[in-house]
Amino acid sequence: MTRSHQPINFKKLYNGFSLPLSNLDCGEKCGPYNDYGVPVCCDIQLLIPSAYDLEWNYLQSETALWRLWSGSSAIEKDSLQQEVQPGQVLIQCLGHQDCQRSFRTITCRAFPFYPYLDSVGSFIGLAYYGDYREQCWIISNLSSVSEEYKSQFQTSFLKLFQLYPDTRDNFLNFSRSMRNQAANVGESIALLDFAGGVFIVDPITEKVQQISFQDLGSFGPFKIMKDLIFSDEDQIQESNKKK
Ligand code: SF4
Ligand code: SF4
Repeated sequence: MTRSHQPINFKKLYNGFSLPLSNLDCGEKCGPYNDYGVPVCCDIQLLIPSAYDLEWNYLQSETALWRLWSGSSAIEKDSLQQEVQPGQVLIQCLGHQDCQRSFRTITCRAFPFYPYLDSVGSFIGLAYYGDYREQCWIISNLSSVSEEYKSQFQTSFLKLFQLYPDTRDNFLNFSRSMRNQAANVGESIALLDFAGGVFIVDPITEKVQQISFQDLGSFGPFKIMKDLIFSDEDQIQESNKKK
């Protein structure tokens, strides 16, 4: 059981973390490259959402959107359950056409990002799950992530860390393992801070260097899209101008 010093009001937490990642509908960007047009992060074949045990209690009391994920076999279920943070359960929703935005889990709202903590435990920004970089359009278009979203991400995770202290420890360990993984393959970690900046983190020294969004790589099919005349970058700039 995960430690929690106070009861968690998930309704309030959800209300404070309700904005989309971007002003563009990113599901329309990644869906066409996935089977049946399903946005990648809503495709149960690719990604299984998890919920904190108290969050799962809240969801069950409010909506029929979710059920426990059962997997295709007990072995698959056991093996994936071991990968999630302690105190969380794997769940499955009714699918993207029946999504209820107000009942998306914290993991739905945060994807493709996790809170990045350096080795002294400072929560310095958002880093992305590299396993999805060839499938998630946002990862190839980090400049499209709105400042308002990043601010809600920061406030929500700070609140979660305070209420659910094990979560902070889990992300501290997870950030360390992502640094080790990046060091092993000779890569750096891309990081969005909470003041509009983008950085790369040296996974060995943890030195943080500011870069520009143009310096970032793009991946998979989105690399090709970026080379087109009216690229996503142009669309993002147009969209930002209209704000
Ligand atoms: S967050 Fe990534 S995977 Fe999810 S809908 Fe947006 S682009 Fe697709
Ligand atoms: S609840 Fe909505 S955002 Fe979350 S996985 Fe289901 S369809 Fe996607």
